[in-house]
This record gives sequence, structure tokens and C-alpha cells, in this order.
Amino acid sequence: MKKEKHIPLRKCLACGEMKPKAELFRIYVAQDGGVELDRSFKSGGRGAYICRNKDCIARAAKAKRIERVVGACDADFYGKLSAEAEDEG
Ligand SMILES: [Zn+2]
Repeated sequence: MKKEKHIPLRKCLACGEMKPKAELFRIYVAQDGGVELDRSFKSGGRGAYICRNKDCIARAAKAKRIERVVGACDADFYGKLSAEAEDEG
């Protein structure tokens, strides 16, 4: 028996693919204006999603996608994301 469950998809800001949230990092702008990784997926504020792979993070870093999408990003935030990401893409 197969029951189809609706899985909400979110768009990666680097590759533009639609993926389930479990395959993405959510980033958001905290109250102090800094960009944070939202592990709970529940933090308020302006947010965006990016794949949990180093390719997408490197791509986003190169094109400054996070800055463009959420309006803020420290250079070392990309490194932080990359450290959390999986190697295989
Ligand atoms: Zn992606």
C-alpha cells in the first residue's frame, strides 16, 4: 500500500533546484542582522535555503548569492556552511 505524502519543497538559492527541507540548510537573518544557520527550520526572519552540499555552497560563495538573497552574509559563513555540508553532491 502506498500513501503519497505531500512533501513541501524549497528552492536552493545556488542551483535553483526544488528539494525537501531535509536536504537543505535554512539560513536566516538574525535580529542582530547577522546570517545564521537555522537548524530548527523555525526561526523567524528573512530566510533562504541552500543544498547541503559543498558544490552549491561554493557556487553561492562565488556568486555572493546569500548576500543577494537575504541581504547580508559574512565571508566566513560560507566556510561554516561548507564545514557542515556533505562531500557528495
Ligand atoms: Zn543547490
